[in-house]
Amino acid sequence: MEGLAELSRVCRIPLQLASRSTIGKCLSSLYFYNAHKKDILIPWKPITSEIFKSFSDLLNADKGGFVFESKPGAYNKVAEFDFISLYPNIMLRKNVSSDTINCTCCKSETDNKVPELEHLYHLCKKRIGIVSLSLKTVLEGD
Ligand SMILES: [Zn+2]
Repeated sequence: MEGLAELSRVCRIPLQLASRSTIGKCLSSLYFYNAHKKDILIPWKPITSEIFKSFSDLLNADKGGFVFESKPGAYNKVAEFDFISLYPNIMLRKNVSSDTINCTCCKSETDNKVPELEHLYHLCKKRIGIVSLSLKTVLEGD
């Protein structure tokens, strides 16, 4: 119950709705809250289509995660790498958000390119995106 109350508080979503929602819906609620606070309109339905990509660009852009499967058995000298909140931290630190991708104000910058897709994407360095702002609340508190 305490975790649910915290989720409801952090994501600015009613408790009962939070109890029946996925984490994605809860985070969307937080995005909407921050967009409203910044006086930003969010389209009812996404209207942005993806830009054309070559096969190798698609491969580089959509690698996804990889989980190493272990063979069942007993082992010694085992190490574990725990990347706590790696994905949200990357989103926050690099300012990855739909409203920061390919902005017009930072087009000529050189240190804001997306690795391996430098020729396609850059991220805004001048304003924090809605997703990054929302993840800052989740990761660092408010
Ligand atoms: Zn910019």
